[in-house]
Amino acid sequence: MTDCLFCKIVAGDIPSKKVFEDEDHYAFWDIAPKAPVHVLLIPKQHIVNLYQMDDSHQPLVQAMMSKAPSIAKAMGLDEGFRLVLNTGPGGGQEVDHIHAHILGDVRKATWSGF
Ligand code: 5GP
Ligand code: ZN
Repeated sequence: MTDCLFCKIVAGDIPSKKVFEDEDHYAFWDIAPKAPVHVLLIPKQHIVNLYQMDDSHQPLVQAMMSKAPSIAKAMGLDEGFRLVLNTGPGGGQEVDHIHAHILGDVRKATWSGF
């Protein structure tokens, strides 16, 4: 998807502050953090959101769930974290490439919308 912001970040065409990468996934700091730790975890493959998934996307999306806690731990979030997937305009999704917000220390969050 040449027109997708997060595909461009994965490709390195737009800079990002990477915190994790493997063959299938990429995680980077949100450009406007809403909490002391705010990282976005995405599959490298362009999947729009949970409503636009097909069966072939299931393993990649499920893997996001298992990779999120290890990324959170690596970010020092020993007390826990919040995982958010905004889905579609009604869910507040602004970037149409599926992403999980990993939010840490939400008691100090600057936005309560999550
Ligand atoms: P959404 O509202 O789609 O769930 O979340 C999109 C997130 O992407 C927002 O929290 C926003 O701050 C973040 N974001 C938007 N543009 C960029 C960018 O160019 N770089 C990074 N790192 N984050 C971005
Ligand atoms: Zn994309």
